[in-house]
Amino acid sequence: MSLNYVMLCDSYVPGLDKGKGLYFLFVKSETKTPGGLLARPVLTSYYKSDHFKTRPYDPYNVYTSPNEAILCPDSFQSMYTQMLCGLYDRQQVLRVGAVFASGLLRAIRFLQLNWPQLVQDIRTGSLNPRITDPSVLECLSGIVRPEPELADFVEAECGKDNWEGIITRIWPNTKYLDVIVTGAMAQYIPTLDYYSGGLPLACTMYASSECYFGLNLNPMSKPSEVSYTIMPNMAYFEFLPHDPDSYSAGFNRNSTNPPKLVDLVDVEIGKEYELVITTYAGLYRYRVGDILRVTGFHNSAPQFHFVRRKNVLLSIDSDKTDEAELQKAVENASQLLREYNTSVVEYTSYADTKTIPGHYVIYWELLVKDPANAPSQTVLNQCCLAMEESLNSVYRQGRVADNSIGPLEIRVVKNGTFEELMDYAISRGASINQYKVPRCVSFTPIVELLDSRVVSVHFSPSLPHWTPERRR
Ligand code: AMP
Repeated sequence: MSLNYVMLCDSYVPGLDKGKGLYFLFVKSETKTPGGLLARPVLTSYYKSDHFKTRPYDPYNVYTSPNEAILCPDSFQSMYTQMLCGLYDRQQVLRVGAVFASGLLRAIRFLQLNWPQLVQDIRTGSLNPRITDPSVLECLSGIVRPEPELADFVEAECGKDNWEGIITRIWPNTKYLDVIVTGAMAQYIPTLDYYSGGLPLACTMYASSECYFGLNLNPMSKPSEVSYTIMPNMAYFEFLPHDPDSYSAGFNRNSTNPPKLVDLVDVEIGKEYELVITTYAGLYRYRVGDILRVTGFHNSAPQFHFVRRKNVLLSIDSDKTDEAELQKAVENASQLLREYNTSVVEYTSYADTKTIPGHYVIYWELLVKDPANAPSQTVLNQCCLAMEESLNSVYRQGRVADNSIGPLEIRVVKNGTFEELMDYAISRGASINQYKVPRCVSFTPIVELLDSRVVSVHFSPSLPHWTPERRR
C-alpha cells in the first residue's frame, strides 16, 4: 500500500502516523510455468523486492511485523513471529489487517490455538523452539523480552471462553480493520464483526497478480457500497459488456464475431462489464474473469463495484474453484465407489466459513445398489482426499503450505433429498422445465434442508499432494 493511500485513510481516520499497523503479511512459494517461467503471486514479488525491503521510513507505514517475519517461507514461523511482535506492540497498534478477510481470521484462529506458548514466551523472554529460521531468530533477539504483566493480560483475555471483540480487547487503539471484504470475501464480514466488535472495515485496493486495477477513494464506506476507481495508467483497460440475465453472456473465444469491447472512457453508469486488460508485461486482451458494475466517475476515471468473479463456485482464501473443476473432482472421487456398485446421483457444494480455516463441503446423494457391500467410512474418507487431489494447485497449496483451507468434507444425504431441493425451488417460483441442480448453495434455508437430511459425514484423512517447485 502506498504512502499516499495511507494518508488518504488518515484524512478519514486521523492520527495514523502516531502508531503502527498490525498486518499479517505472507510470502508464498514460487512455482514454474510449463514453459519454465517463474510464477508467484504479486505480493510475494513485492515483499521480496527492494521496494519493500529497503523502503524509506514513513510514519504512516510502520508495521509491527519485521521484514524477516513477513519474508519467512515457513507459514507457522511467519505467523507466530508476527503475532508475537503484534502482542508486544499492542498499545501502539492503530489498525489491524491482512490482504483478504480470510487471512485475518486465520490469524485469530492461530492466536486461539497458540496463545499459551505466546504467553510463555512473553512471560519468560524465551522463544518457542519451533522458531528456527536464522534471520527471524536474529531479529527477534532485539524484540523478545520478559514482560510478565503483558503475559498476564494476554493470558486473561485469551483464556476467556468468549472471544467476542477480542481484537479491540487485545489491541485497544485499533480504529479500523484493513482487509478486502468485497466479492467472495463478503462471507467473512459477520465473523470479523464478531471478533472486532463491529470496527469499520476498509477495503483499500482491487488488484490481481496480473495487474493492479484500482483504489477505493472512500475507504471507510460500507463494504456493500465500496467502489474502486480504476487507475488508467496501470494497463490498457477494455470492457466486455455483460448481460447479468444472459446465461452465456460474453464472447466465445472461437466465435467468428469478435465482441465489441468498450474503452475505459466509454463505459456507462449502471452497466456490468467483464474486465479485459492489456498489460506492460505482455498480456494481450486478457480476460481477468471479474464482473464489475460502473457506479460513477472520479474525474474521467470510472469507478466500479465488484460484482463477482465469473464462474467461480467455491472460494475460501485465494482459491477459485469453478463448476468444471468441481465436476471433474466428483467424477474422479466417484471412481472409488465403483467396486461397491455405488454411484453419485446428485451433488452440490457449500463453502463453509463457520470453521477457521473454512473448508469445502460437498453434499452427495448416493445410489447404493448392493447395501450389503456399501462403501465404508474409510472409502468415503478417501473420496474426500480424491476430490482434493483433483482440485487445482492453488487449492492444494492453501491446504498444504498455507493452512488456509481445512480438510474437504463430504456429507452424504438421504435418498430423495435433491428431489426435495427441487420441490423447494419450485415452491419459490422456479420453472420445473428449466430447473437445474445448483452446484453450489449458500441460501440458509437450502443449506439447512440439506443438513437436516445428512446420514453420514466424512473428512479428508490427510493432505493432498502439493510440492512447490523451488527456484534454484
Ligand atoms: P490473484 O490473481 O490470485 O491475486 O487474484 C486476483 C483476483 O482476486 C481478482 O481478479 C479478483 O477476482 C479478486 N480480488 C482482488 N481484489 C479484490 C477486491 N478488492 N474485491 C473483490 N475481489 C478482489
